[in-house]
Amino acid sequence: MSTDRTHLRVSGLDVEVVRKSIKNLHLGVYPPNGRVRVAAPAHLNDEAIRLAVVTRLAWIRRQQAAFQEQERQSEREMVSGETHYFLGRRYRLDVEERPTRPKVEIAGPSRLRLTVPPGLGRDEREAVLYRWYRHQLRERLPSLLSKWEPRIGVEVADVRIRRMKTRWGSCTPEAKRIWLNVELAKKPPNCLEYVLVHEMVHLIERRHTDRFRALLDRFLPLWRSLRDELNRAPLAHEEWAY
Ligand SMILES: [Zn+2]
Repeated sequence: MSTDRTHLRVSGLDVEVVRKSIKNLHLGVYPPNGRVRVAAPAHLNDEAIRLAVVTRLAWIRRQQAAFQEQERQSEREMVSGETHYFLGRRYRLDVEERPTRPKVEIAGPSRLRLTVPPGLGRDEREAVLYRWYRHQLRERLPSLLSKWEPRIGVEVADVRIRRMKTRWGSCTPEAKRIWLNVELAKKPPNCLEYVLVHEMVHLIERRHTDRFRALLDRFLPLWRSLRDELNRAPLAHEEWAY
């Protein structure tokens, strides 16, 4: 597929334009700085692209503001009173210092209690929370895998959970291995299911082709709204912004 990359200036925004042989224009805003990229059909002229950007300006600004918010969130100090997310809900963090094993627990409808030995630094406190996030995700995997493996007709050899900057998930089809972003623990539960199913479908169809989308339509008819839910969040899976 031949591509042609240019830049346009639209209402003070720098827009990267990639022209290729596709039918529809796709517009995306990407981390970490809110870069704006348009994939446009080869025949579309600059004016048509400008218009498409202008009509989505409010949405673009919202996405960029969300990235800035994410930037602020990532600089959190891991102290009491901060907002942290789990399964799509907001929690207030309560840090308790006690000479005991570090642990995290849900303490009431909107409290997340982090118990740590005195003197534990910010990064170590965060590591305790992320270890808990990973554990929570891992606990939900067996039932999801046993639900979806027979339906999709694939076997997953291995699911690994890690922090990723730009993706919610990825896979290595040769090894039947799936990688999930630990940040999914902060999202509503059905987001994990969507990302897992998305990556499992990649084990039978590598690219985001019509066949890929048809398979998702069959397995998870509401996948588009789940994708949008994830894309509303700062971390966007670049390939999902069709
Ligand atoms: Zn994908």
